[in-house]
Amino acid sequence: MGSVTVIRHPLIQAKLTKLRDKRTDRLLFRQILEELTAFLVYEITRDFPLREVEVETPLERTKGGELAKPVVLVAIMRAGIVMTDGVLRLIPNARVGHIGIWRDPESLKPNLYYRKLPKNLPQALTIVVDPMLATGGSAALAVRLVKEAGARDIRFLCLVAAPEGIEAFRKEHPDVPIYTAAVDRELNDHGYILPGLGDAGDRLFGT
Ligand code: URA
Repeated sequence: MGSVTVIRHPLIQAKLTKLRDKRTDRLLFRQILEELTAFLVYEITRDFPLREVEVETPLERTKGGELAKPVVLVAIMRAGIVMTDGVLRLIPNARVGHIGIWRDPESLKPNLYYRKLPKNLPQALTIVVDPMLATGGSAALAVRLVKEAGARDIRFLCLVAAPEGIEAFRKEHPDVPIYTAAVDRELNDHGYILPGLGDAGDRLFGT
């Protein structure tokens, strides 16, 4: 089974708590979601390989490093888009793909409506992002599409995961590690995570 890493850094947990708070308004919610994603990405990229490069300081030449492989972010729309803004703060030259998935409110099954992915996926380190890993259906479908497009080294990053979603995702993608700031209690009958933070897309975009 694929691994699940819960990143419990105190700053991450404090920001997540602000996101959960229903009094957090849209502007602050968006700002914290971006910041939280940047902190998480800092943690999950620790093992990204470096290539040695030389650089000229104002005083002399020295050795340094740069990322050895390109990074691709794949946002599951809608809410994943704001997470990519957070990642791009730290990895500004990452390419960004988008996958539009609409979740049927009755069946809770994912429906694909949009897909645009960079061509360098086979060479890249790929991070698929969606704030909520709820039923796992959207995440599993997105990763399936990214694999079909040639991605080999994939990580899935969310902010809050439900046990049901983790199980479903790992069943289909045991090779893809999951990173999250929290694993919550359960899903309700409408596929929302409890205690969760509500509908991330609605809170981000005011819908
Ligand atoms: N999507 C959300 O935005 N929130 C949930 O709780 C579940 C899915």
